[in-house]
Amino acid sequence: MELNITCIPGDGIGPEIVREAKKVLDKVAQLYGHEIKYKDILMGGASIDVHGVPLTEEAVADAKAADAVLMGSIGGDTTTSPWYQLPPNLRPEAGLLGIRKALNLFANLRPAVLYEELAGACPLKEEISSRGFDMLIMRELTGGLYFGERKTVEENGVRKAIDTLTYDENEIRRIAVKGFDIARKRRKKVTSVDKANVLDSSRLWRAVVEEVAKDYPDVTLEHMLVDNCAMQLVKDPAQFDVILTENMFGDILSDEASMVTGSIGMLSSASLNDTKFGLYEPSHGSAPDIAGKNIANPIATILSAAMMLRYSFDLDKEADAVEAAVKKVLKEGYRTVDIMSEGCEKVSCSKMGDLLVEKLHK
Ligand code: NAD
Repeated sequence: MELNITCIPGDGIGPEIVREAKKVLDKVAQLYGHEIKYKDILMGGASIDVHGVPLTEEAVADAKAADAVLMGSIGGDTTTSPWYQLPPNLRPEAGLLGIRKALNLFANLRPAVLYEELAGACPLKEEISSRGFDMLIMRELTGGLYFGERKTVEENGVRKAIDTLTYDENEIRRIAVKGFDIARKRRKKVTSVDKANVLDSSRLWRAVVEEVAKDYPDVTLEHMLVDNCAMQLVKDPAQFDVILTENMFGDILSDEASMVTGSIGMLSSASLNDTKFGLYEPSHGSAPDIAGKNIANPIATILSAAMMLRYSFDLDKEADAVEAAVKKVLKEGYRTVDIMSEGCEKVSCSKMGDLLVEKLHK
């Protein structure tokens, strides 16, 4: 198979971690007989330095022309970097918002996995963390409260702010379909999270999700209220497979779920549109404090590349092989500095990439 991948190395540790992800993808291609064509584009601070803007039309066209985009991370130190003296629409993050919009990425996927070997980093009680967990939060990214009409008015000398939460059935249906499709590639369970006891938008959400579920009789659907879900994430995270939810609930719950794993350098993410196209990136930022030192953990980016293989190219076996290599390297006690613990061997970013290439087998 030919895989056309546009890469955005970005800023800070971005180029270091993307380099390691490419090494791993090249090994996958070699083992399974694929051909990968990469095209690198500039975005964020790197693009500001060269073009004066965080994202050019040419870069967007290159991203659109690819089958998928693999990104490191963008941005610099927000207090010292000259990029943050620029107006907001010219700062690095504007590039990310711009590309998400240009590519119509409406579904955000954030897996939260607790690896047995890293259970010590989990802030939960051992009786809970020892069971491990492997969930994926599917968040609607372009609708709801963050995109609704808003205004602040003054009535009879009292200031009043109004935000509106709107979803139409098409917006709900397309994210629900994504959620069920992805559950089919996992343990076939969807927990749809809403606030249907209070909100009309949640009642419509629940009704449309029920309709979509009829096309997926092999997938188990349950509904959960968002306040209960926030509790269940710390009480019994092992119960979740795919959590399907709207924009604001997903924003909050996905951060909660990542904190429960305790290891930011391990968390991948993806944003998808209604084709197979996706943008894959680690959940963490550009870590300017450790950039250029070859000590960053490349695993989140490498697991994002595995998601790309699975969701954009339907290469499930290849994705499984990458995830198995990660587990093997952890089991053998190799750690980057951020996940280091006593008795383990500390390795650099590039060494971690080399080890993963070495452990990757068909
Ligand atoms: P950050 O995630 O970059 O770093 C937080 C802490 O985690 C730092 O101590 C960092 O060294 C550490 N860390 C993060 N990733 C690591 C890795 N792979 N290996 C080892 N340690 C790692 O968050 P921040 O410091 O708040 O933000 C830094 C910059 O990144 C800012 O400009 C911010 O806007 C940007 N940012 C970009 C994205 C993105 O590109 N999607 C996301 C979040 C933040």
